[in-house]
Amino acid sequence: MPRTPNSKPLDSPRCDPRLPEAALRYRRTANPILTTPQALGAINVTAWLYRDRNGVEGIQVNPNVTIAELARVYGPAATPDAEVGLHSEGLAAEWFRTRPDLRVLQIFSERVPCVAMCAPMLRHYYPGVPWYYYYDSNSWRGNNGERIRRAGEILRSAYGV
Ligand SMILES: [Zn+2]
Repeated sequence: MPRTPNSKPLDSPRCDPRLPEAALRYRRTANPILTTPQALGAINVTAWLYRDRNGVEGIQVNPNVTIAELARVYGPAATPDAEVGLHSEGLAAEWFRTRPDLRVLQIFSERVPCVAMCAPMLRHYYPGVPWYYYYDSNSWRGNNGERIRRAGEILRSAYGV
């Protein structure tokens, strides 16, 4: 059973436990499986809770597309700052953009949405929708800005894998 994630804002309703469970299930059933330390470190999975017009709830799960995968398909990025991959939250937002009947209720992402792209995008398109996450790189910096714990370790313990 995955641990209860952190939330933003802090006083959000409790995260629906089906969201981290769906993300973990995605990792466990992927081929190859994505619960190895390397895959936990390289890949981010997001799971969004939504409700349709009939009141039926569903969960949409998206992994990010890694730089390695993009490089394999399209060749290396032209500049290093383009090497961000396609973030899972951006892929999920695109999925919901084409399905305007669905109302997004909760956004779970293993890593907190990135400050550069996903956070402003989510605030703009999904105002008031709470975020849930396990890993925030800004919470794990040492005095010199070094990362003192990596995302993969945090996720391994949160999922108990
Ligand atoms: Zn992002």
